[in-house]
Amino acid sequence: MLKGKKAVVTGSTSGIGLAIARELARNGADLIINGFGDAQAIEQERTGLEREFGIKATYLNADMMQADAARAFIGEAIKALGGIDILVNNAGIQHVDLIEDFPIDKWNAIIALNLSAVFHGTAAALPSMKQQKWGRIINIASAHGLVASVQKSAYVAAKHGVVGLTKVTALENAGLGVTCNAICPGWVRTPLVEKQIQAMAKDKGLSVEDAARELLFEKQPSLEFVTPEQLGQAAVFLASDAAAQMTGTTLSIDGGWTAR
Ligand code: NAD
Repeated sequence: MLKGKKAVVTGSTSGIGLAIARELARNGADLIINGFGDAQAIEQERTGLEREFGIKATYLNADMMQADAARAFIGEAIKALGGIDILVNNAGIQHVDLIEDFPIDKWNAIIALNLSAVFHGTAAALPSMKQQKWGRIINIASAHGLVASVQKSAYVAAKHGVVGLTKVTALENAGLGVTCNAICPGWVRTPLVEKQIQAMAKDKGLSVEDAARELLFEKQPSLEFVTPEQLGQAAVFLASDAAAQMTGTTLSIDGGWTAR
């Protein structure tokens, strides 16, 4: 479905980003992968993608928290791919604390990566997409882009910001062949959430599996985790022709979290 398309996925060495990269590759897109991690493991993932799906995958290291690095990364990605058709702004981090206890450096880091990097990546990718009159920008927001939870001030503020930025990006590019949408996942059992499960288990004296069940019980009526693969398939849909008239929207994949 995406044969010949050129895709960039930020934060794709782990979790949701990695699954999105895999689903885009499965559908034929060439890829730039990005994110932190063990160099050998990343190289294995990269060559595995090429072997399994017959596409070209390139790893570009960049700290998306730094404005200049984020913009330069998109420039390098465009050079390496020979263009850019699909940008998935996915890289993100979390920190949990009451507002009055929230460390300033954690606030700044979350806003820089979860919100500002989306702005910088989008700004750097748009000229190429507009020129070719085709582009898909897919922002990985969250249920926390639509509703709030306690102790997640920076994350909720950043993700609400991403939903707003998604709408502005959509409006500024409506009719130009470039769409922008946000996927809003509920709980997905990635390393980012595993940390929260472990913390809850420790706080409440629960086993890790009981803590995982309690996490779901609090928020996600389906009582099942969303899988990274389901989000990858949603990204493929948003990149497809079927979604050409879908822009400025949020796509909730949250087991019913935001329905109540
Ligand atoms: P994860 O921790 O598994 O992966 C995060 C990725 O971002 C990794 O590849 C990591 O190396 C990369 N990264 C971290 N800091 C970076 C930086 N400064 N520059 C570049 N890359 C960096 O987390 P995940 O759960 O897969 O989260 C991915 C996205 O999905 C995030 O935006 C997160 O907010 C969002 N999300 C996650 C959930 C969930 O339940 N896991 C729910 C809703 C939204």
